[in-house]
Amino acid sequence: MIAMPTRANTLELIGNTPLVLLEGPSEAAGCEIYGKCEFANPGASVKDRAALGIVRDAEARGELKPGGTIVEGTAGNTGIGIALVANALGYKTIIVMPDNQSKEKMDTLRALGAELLLVPPTKFADPCHFVHTSRRLAEETEGAVWANQFDNIANRRVHIDTTAAELWAQLEGKIDGFTCAAGTGGTICGVGLGLKEFDETVQIALTDPHGAALYSYYAEGELKSEGSSVAEGIGQGRITANLEGAPIDTQFRISDEEGLVWVARLLREEGLCLGLSSGINVAGAIALGKRLQEQGRENPRVATILCDTGFRYLSSLYNADWLKSKNLPVFDWLEESA
Ligand code: PMP
Repeated sequence: MIAMPTRANTLELIGNTPLVLLEGPSEAAGCEIYGKCEFANPGASVKDRAALGIVRDAEARGELKPGGTIVEGTAGNTGIGIALVANALGYKTIIVMPDNQSKEKMDTLRALGAELLLVPPTKFADPCHFVHTSRRLAEETEGAVWANQFDNIANRRVHIDTTAAELWAQLEGKIDGFTCAAGTGGTICGVGLGLKEFDETVQIALTDPHGAALYSYYAEGELKSEGSSVAEGIGQGRITANLEGAPIDTQFRISDEEGLVWVARLLREEGLCLGLSSGINVAGAIALGKRLQEQGRENPRVATILCDTGFRYLSSLYNADWLKSKNLPVFDWLEESA
């Protein structure tokens, strides 16, 4: 008999994602590199987990009442997760998003029935920043709660309880390293804390894109950024509540070009269509695999997060004109078909 579990409701479709051995990255690293298929969540990203965790927490604290509204500021994926969870549980959703994020995410949010407010991309210190705008909207809206994914640690808790526990079970307790980039930091800190509870020798590495300030923070104790990145959903300039006490052992800084190499190779050689944060994570995982071997670990196993589906970026990452406009290399097969 084939073991095919039935889920009792649609929310149970969130999490329990497959883990896949990535062939090209494993060959490049000289050790096993695994990708956690978070694009397989119903909202096609890792943020479905945080959305469900935050909503359940607000319910448990009595803040979110039947028929209430959930307000959030997001690069898009958390909004999509919240809208799905809200629809399943009978809540309304209001999403504030910077207007430079992918069109596909905006269209998806509208399709899901979320009320969408676009704001200009500004620095966190600006009162019009999407996070502050969403907080104000929540305060002004009757029966609304603010999800506050950056500083609400229900976000990282869900990764301790689910993502870390799943990785440990899927790799049968043989895992040497984990790395990913941070947006809110919920994934890296939650998975890091969770895995270290199982085995404190698991090495946790932060993979930071250019333009983010966490690499220098963990390397030198100072928040400093350098360069920029077009990757959506990652790149943090402050220590969010979700990042406080993150068990980071080492850190890597990965460029968009390096991430794109793996986006392209995973698509063409392994049939995985992913967003750029996944490519950056995979480049970081290869760096971690090599580092662990230099440190004397034999045949280390490293896991990372395949954060979201590439179908969310067809008009950007997978569009020759857009790539050229950002001075990024164009995938040769896109050039041919343009
Ligand atoms: N990749 C993508 C595409 C995302 O949307 C996010 C969430 N902002 C992340 C990575 C980072 O996840 P986290 O917020 O848990 O740090």
